Amino acid sequence: MADTIFGKILSGEIPSEFIYEDEHCVAIHDINPQAPVHVLVIPRKPIEKLSDAEPEDQALLGHLMLAVGTIAQQLGVVDAFNLMVNNGEAAGMTIHHLHLHILA
Ligand code: 5GP
Repeated sequence: MADTIFGKILSGEIPSEFIYEDEHCVAIHDINPQAPVHVLVIPRKPIEKLSDAEPEDQALLGHLMLAVGTIAQQLGVVDAFNLMVNNGEAAGMTIHHLHLHILA
């Protein structure tokens, strides 16, 4: 897949503050927040969209869910947040690198 803004953020080509990172994913504040808390959780592996994930990505997808809980705890919103994934341009996806929106 073509490199994306998130690919460049992950590689450091575009400087960005990681509010959370581990070996499989990073989290950043959304540049155009749609809620008081709007964080993006981005896997380091460049899966284009959720529906392109393969059985081999099962552990990674589970890891992302657990990371969301950790990040929500860190942000103080663990008892009240929404998790959103846009899948495909017709659903509003603009960056073709899987990412999870935490909104609170
Ligand atoms: P999508 O619509 O693809 O699900 O979400 C992409 C999100 O990335 C949007 O909410 C948009 O505001 C955010 N975004 C786009 N470019 C940048 C950027 O350069 N930095 C950050 N932090 N967020 C970005």
